[in-house]
Amino acid sequence: MAKLYFLTGSQSLYGEDALRQAAEHGREIARYLDSQMGEAARIEALPIVASSEDITAACRKASCDDDCVGVIAWMHTFSPAKMWIKGLQCLSKPLLHLHTQYNEKLPYDSIDMDFMNLNQSAHGDREYAFILSRLGIRHHTAVGYYKDADTVAEVRRFAETAKAVDYSRKLRVAMLGGNMREVAVTDGDRVESQIRYGWEVNYYGVGDLAAIASGVGKDEAEAKLAEYGRLYDIKTEDIEAVRTQAAYEIALRRFLSEGGFGAFTDTFQDLHGLEQLPGLAVQRLMAEGVGFAAEGDYKTAALSAVLWKLAEGRKGATGFMEDYTYDFARGLVLGAHMLEVSPAFAAERPRVEVHPLGIGGKRPPARLVFDGVTGSGVAVCMTDMGDRFRLICAEIELVGQPEATPRLPVARLMWKPRPDFKTGIKAWLEAGGGHHTVVSTALASGDIELFAKLTGTELVLIK
Ligand code: MN
Repeated sequence: MAKLYFLTGSQSLYGEDALRQAAEHGREIARYLDSQMGEAARIEALPIVASSEDITAACRKASCDDDCVGVIAWMHTFSPAKMWIKGLQCLSKPLLHLHTQYNEKLPYDSIDMDFMNLNQSAHGDREYAFILSRLGIRHHTAVGYYKDADTVAEVRRFAETAKAVDYSRKLRVAMLGGNMREVAVTDGDRVESQIRYGWEVNYYGVGDLAAIASGVGKDEAEAKLAEYGRLYDIKTEDIEAVRTQAAYEIALRRFLSEGGFGAFTDTFQDLHGLEQLPGLAVQRLMAEGVGFAAEGDYKTAALSAVLWKLAEGRKGATGFMEDYTYDFARGLVLGAHMLEVSPAFAAERPRVEVHPLGIGGKRPPARLVFDGVTGSGVAVCMTDMGDRFRLICAEIELVGQPEATPRLPVARLMWKPRPDFKTGIKAWLEAGGGHHTVVSTALASGDIELFAKLTGTELVLIK
């Protein structure tokens, strides 16, 4: 399980007794926070650091430990910050500066200089915060008594976000085919996104997938079909089309697992060797957290995998979405895609249907069709502005479909942008926000803000 190291900073001037106490207090705070993290992460206290050598060793340990996704630092006493320079310069994990105290209240009756010497994070954390600023170390600061629910929630959000950043740094993305011809917003600088987010994005011929699909055995495909029958209402006579998607699903799982890919793209413009655009097959993978975006949109594919990881363990759904069309009269967006909407968004038992695609010239693909969930959430997109990436995050309210859409052959969501339709849409357009997004009912804008902060990404927040 992901792990965070908890560092308590001090110095040797205070003597052995004070250091022992400071170390014990640090361990106690770390134990308490650990008990509040649930499945998000473990928090483990490292021995108190009181010298440049201690600090450098602790930062190196955190940076080299593969299970460690982040570091929490707290200066119970004063820890002269020149001692931190070398260590912070080699720290490669996300950092939370926890500005807390061991005591919530002051012991007015008994407070003396011994108490002041031991309990002085108001003093020591300022020294520490200065050097973080001076060095330009990316970090987040949480202020509050460590047992307060909102402090715990902030530490937990940091743990989840640090885990997502760690996942991002290890993410491999396969592009089956390239970016859709002539499309601008889905394209991007893959060297820069690897430098900033760690994504290893590489191109593969879709024929590689077609070859694996043609090798899928009859029995395997039949077993997969039977699974579909248990999970969904099969609303088509064209079982052969569904069987083809079953073979695609099996083939995609093999392809992804062999390459160690956590996300992928495809494009309807390059389906050589495939009869259909993968629909149902892709939808089922998306629901398991495999990142996906269509038309070669590698940024949204990677982002959907990373945000799914951020939301892991929370209630709600996260996945690829596309702004499609409006109900201007009601101020609603209808989001969908040609096929690929994650069934994690399904508000009802999905139906398997087969319909022609209208573009691409291939055979009608099988897909899952359903009405979407309701509730508050976010729509997030990443654009490449040439010299930097920009995240755009809109708060949205997913609503039920106001009227039935019996002829719409794709899964869909409907939502109201915040603060209102016109303001929200205008801000999105003026920020250069694209049509492909990651929609999540599990994440709030605060999660995206923290992710942007920890990755040094420009953020436009619409709320
Ligand atoms: Mn699209």
